[in-house]
Order: sequence, then C-alpha cells, then structure tokens
Amino acid sequence: MTEASTEAPMIRASAVDKHFGSLHVLKDITLDVPRGQVVVVLGPSGSGKSTLCRVVNRLEPVDSGDIAIDGVPLPAEGRELAELRADVGMVFQQFNLFAHKTIVDNVVLGPVKVRRIDKETARQDAMRLLERVGIADQAGKYPAQLSGGQQQRAAIARALAMRPKVMLFDEPTSALDPEMINEVLDVMADLAAEGMTMLVISHEMGFARRAAHRVLFMDDGEIAEDSTPEDFFRAPRSERATDFLSKIL
Ligand code: ADP
Ligand code: MG
Repeated sequence: MTEASTEAPMIRASAVDKHFGSLHVLKDITLDVPRGQVVVVLGPSGSGKSTLCRVVNRLEPVDSGDIAIDGVPLPAEGRELAELRADVGMVFQQFNLFAHKTIVDNVVLGPVKVRRIDKETARQDAMRLLERVGIADQAGKYPAQLSGGQQQRAAIARALAMRPKVMLFDEPTSALDPEMINEVLDVMADLAAEGMTMLVISHEMGFARRAAHRVLFMDDGEIAEDSTPEDFFRAPRSERATDFLSKIL
C-alpha cells in the first residue's frame, strides 16, 4: 500500500475537467472526501456520475485538474498507477466477475497478482471475506450459478480483498431484482459502519439516509448540491434536484 498521510483527505479532486469530444462531462469539479466518510452521488442519467467515479481511479484520464488518493497524486501510468489504483476498490452495476473462475478464485486473483500475497494466505483471506458478505457457502461455484445479489456480494468481497483505502460503487444495485437489493445494501452499510471511505453512486434513498454523511447532486457535469442526506431529501435547494427527486420517489 502507498504511504498514508494523516492530514490529507482520502479523495481529493481539484478543478477536474473532462470532455468526451465536444461534450463537457465534468466541469471544474472540486471535491474532498475525508477519511471514513460515505458520500452518495445522485443525479440524472448523463450528468457525469460514472465519469466522476472513473476519473477517481484513472480508468478515465482527465483533461485538466488533479486527483489525489490519501494525499498521493494519481500518476499518469505504469507500475505506480497500478499500485495506487489497488488502493481504490471499485464495484460496478454489472458485477464483472470472471465467468470461468470460481467465486473464491475471483477473490484470490487480485491479491496474488497485484499485492503479491501468497496463494494460501490469499485463499484464507478470501474465505473470511466471503463469510463477511454472507456467501462462504458459494465459494466453489461459478458466477453464473449464483443469484445477482450473491454475485454482487462476491464482487464486493473481491474488491475488499485488495485491502483498499477507499471503495467506489457505481450503481451497485441497479441491475438487481428488487428482492436482492437489500442484501447488497446491508453489506455496504456494514462496510460504512466499519469506517470505510466510500463514494457511492446510487439512487437508493434508504441507503443514503442510513449510511451517507453527504449527498452530492450532479447536474450537467457539475456538483449542483452538496449537503447532508437529511437536508437534501427534505428540501433540495435547486429546481433540478427537486424535479429529479419527484421522479425517483
Ligand atoms: P451518468 O453516470 O451520470 O449517467 P456518465 O458519466 O456515464 O453519466 O456520462 C456523462 C456523459 O458522457 C453522457 O452524455 C455520456 O453519454 C457521455 N459519455 C460517457 N462515457 C463516454 C465515452 N467513453 N465516450 C463518449 N461519451 C461518453
Ligand atoms: Mg452512470
């Protein structure tokens, strides 16, 4: 892991700009997420939420501005980038598990390859994590043999196996059947309660109310509101946010 600094926020984005061609997707985004804070990001489709998540671990390069994780600026490429990226766990809407590997092997892979942890230790860690997300009994199965909720919990275990400093979630429950949403949100809420720093794109207001310290409302590439869940859901400041909430409620 990269050296920790006690002062720096866990995530710092400074004046980040990003275009896709002529489309201005992130407009001068400045954002600090302190250690241990849970930030829920919501906003209309196309407002730049996923792109924000992706620039935080440099799955997307920025046009200008800076991103730092735990005080360390994200390097452009190479081994250094790989190391810093390993500090940032990511969970996507589509679970992105390796279909031809068992659940436990999915979890073991990253630590062995990137963290250089020996296989037996990695396997023991993986089993502990699968226990923690409630699917230890599924360890020997392949992803297709699991429900969506179980697969997403496996994806969370896989991300945690890298011992990340921060976890990014991009609509982790959007692809799930309704009855499976809570089993995933419960795992995320536990993680939040244990002090993990989290940036969570989700329209699940129950989760935001229960676990978020802050809610960001993104609109057209900008952070239009940054408030507590209580304030935001009671009385959003902008018309766009009011309109947005009326549609998801
Ligand atoms: P959100 O997650 O809020 O729905 P995104 O960050 O995915 O928004 O997308 C923001 C805008 O950027 C959208 O207009 C989207 O079509 C566009 N976009 C996203 N990714 C790409 C890409 N790789 N190439 C071109 N345009 C993109
Ligand atoms: Mg998105």
